[in-house]
Amino acid sequence: MTPRPGTFDALTASMNAYSARHPSPTPSDDAGAETAQDVYRRVSAERAAAHLASLPRYDLGDGRFGRSHRLTGRCADGYQLGGGTRFHIVAEGDVDGDAICGSVSGNRSGGWSREQVEPASCPGCVARLARITAVIRVGNACSLPALWDALKTYADICDAQIFSIDKGGADLDNLPTFGGDRPTWRAGHPVKRIFSWDECHALVEQQTGPRFSLVPRNPSQPW
Ligand SMILES: [Zn+2]
Repeated sequence: MTPRPGTFDALTASMNAYSARHPSPTPSDDAGAETAQDVYRRVSAERAAAHLASLPRYDLGDGRFGRSHRLTGRCADGYQLGGGTRFHIVAEGDVDGDAICGSVSGNRSGGWSREQVEPASCPGCVARLARITAVIRVGNACSLPALWDALKTYADICDAQIFSIDKGGADLDNLPTFGGDRPTWRAGHPVKRIFSWDECHALVEQQTGPRFSLVPRNPSQPW
């Protein structure tokens, strides 16, 4: 029901009259009391925060998170066709910045929209997010088998997107390791590259066969 005009004023006046008849014991107790305007602001902020929390949010892997936005305004040129219907990922707090696909809000566009409820649909953003997510999983691996699995997924995504595994975002020269010394290289062994290791196994690329292999370490015959 829509309140009649003046209802709020009448209520405020009534509350003020009550306060006048029943003063607080000490003035200092009133110092922290919320006014009606404070309550309105607080409830509005809480609703806005709850709404934002319900919208898609994407871990960008570098301490930032992204939200779904679309370009507003008219298309400036052919490259922006579809720009207003695609949902891109833009880092929080960087609404003047680029989407993670590289799309920019040009001078003649209306800029990025507010955060959208629709999940990201821009193919470039979705592809980049898939790589970012795979890189995060590689970095968070808690065991050598988990790293092995995460690296295979990462490499599959890189292959599908025609990226070299060294250019897909994972730092393959500084992967987590899980105990034991670095296996020593031995000339003639069919290992091209050592990615990681634990006490019992090493994760390697061999001269032939699968790109990532988990092979047992032999303490009496180090590589
Ligand atoms: Zn995009």
